[in-house]
Amino acid sequence: MRIAIIGAGFGGLAAAYDLSQAGHKVVIYEAAESVGGLAGGFKEPHWEWSVEKFYHHWFASDKHMLGLIRELGWQGDVIFPRPYTVLLHNGKWYPFDSILKALLFPGLGFGLDKIRFGLVGLYLRLTNHWKPLEKFTVDEWMRRWAGSRVYEMMWEPLVVGKFGETYARQVNMAWMWARLKARTTRLGTFKGGFQAFADRFAAHLGTLGVEIRLRVQVESIKREQAAGSLTVTSQGGSETFDQVLVTTSPALLARLCPDLPPDYLKGLLELKSMGAVVMVLSLKHQLSEQGYYWFNLPKSAGFPCLALVEHTNYVSPAYFGGDHIVYAGDYLEPEHEYFRLSPEELFERFLPAFERINPKFKRDWVKKIWLFKTAYAQPVPLVGHSKNIPDIQTPVQGLYFASMSQVYPWDRGTNFAVEIGRRAARQMLAQK
Ligand SMILES: Cc1cc2nc3c(=O)[nH]c(=O)nc-3n(C[C@H](O)[C@H](O)[C@H](O)COP(=O)(O)OP(=O)(O)OC[C@H]3O[C@@H](n4cnc5c(N)ncnc54)[C@H](O)[C@@H]3O)c2cc1C
Repeated sequence: MRIAIIGAGFGGLAAAYDLSQAGHKVVIYEAAESVGGLAGGFKEPHWEWSVEKFYHHWFASDKHMLGLIRELGWQGDVIFPRPYTVLLHNGKWYPFDSILKALLFPGLGFGLDKIRFGLVGLYLRLTNHWKPLEKFTVDEWMRRWAGSRVYEMMWEPLVVGKFGETYARQVNMAWMWARLKARTTRLGTFKGGFQAFADRFAAHLGTLGVEIRLRVQVESIKREQAAGSLTVTSQGGSETFDQVLVTTSPALLARLCPDLPPDYLKGLLELKSMGAVVMVLSLKHQLSEQGYYWFNLPKSAGFPCLALVEHTNYVSPAYFGGDHIVYAGDYLEPEHEYFRLSPEELFERFLPAFERINPKFKRDWVKKIWLFKTAYAQPVPLVGHSKNIPDIQTPVQGLYFASMSQVYPWDRGTNFAVEIGRRAARQMLAQK
């Protein structure tokens, strides 16, 4: 078969790997100038490693991603440092990323609240029955079982940060279950950064005969009934394929393929998601002198964004020519004003967060600023979400769809992009 894949993110690359190994001719169309999608990175000339545009790491539980790396024989290039995630209490930051650290966190006192927090955490870690949880919102389930005080202090900031005020009270509890279940204390990355993995994987796909067309934006996909094929059209012209796999957002699939029946189209367009705005800064000095990696910033305490992440407190600044790399980011609805601000304007908004984390911070510490924005960053799973997930095999014959919006109850990530990309490949192979 001749197969087209739209998107060279981790999902598209993983699907191409299985489809080409099964003997098919695969062409990947990628609008950007490099592979890697949302997990891609960039590099300054004096850096040895790349930095992800949007902060990225793996959990030790990411078995699909780590399994793929093992199949490729590259496991020696994965590292799992133990960085520190911290939470604010009474103006002080406390590590909060293991059961022990959570139990020592003074914010909940040492009475009933801590016991409820511990029991709820334990229950969620131990149970595998997530399905009944999707009938409740995180907000109602947590208030009932952990109590409002515990919920508001420990989990609500995460939910508000990820889903904004609009959706924070609508996200379902199965998502939270999966989030807590998958988390590990050690966090993994690839030597050289996620971009180094993506580039190496793409080069390997080349040896398997996969053709990757960079800087080619697909404009439409049409089913040719008589010929029994699909025509993919880009600025470069049109080409026909036996099967097409789309790995973009649901809204983009709906635009690319208006032939989809109204019911499927309606389902795609009803799926909700958040965008993300992430600023990357190279600094002359270390920001967190305690060496903390991830600061969860509660908006209720007046912080201008969700997270401040010092990448070089996770991997050594030596890989970046001695630069200290810091991210400041937020999940937002695409209409939010942050999407329209210049890097300098947004830096003025984020500046107070830097000063609160280190009062010695000065503007002249900043060597360079980059700003990355995406309208499609985080799907929003509402109550009863499992019935809203579009099938990988669309009603248009030969057209398949594998996106972040179909990852559930797990929080989307490169691990699940690999999983759904490979699952799509299996379904495509079964239909040939
Ligand atoms: C802020 C943020 C933090 C994250 N943190 C983590 C993390 O710590 N760990 C983790 O594992 N994951 C993380 N993720 C999630 C992870 O990046 C995604 O789940 C994963 O990269 C999705 O891969 P994908 O292949 O499904 O989609 P994408 O990476 O979105 O790939 C789709 C590709 O399609 C291309 N495309 C779009 N339209 C067209 C078109 N018309 N024609 C041709 N090509 C097109 C795009 O350019 C893109 O390359 C994070 C994401 C964000 C936004």
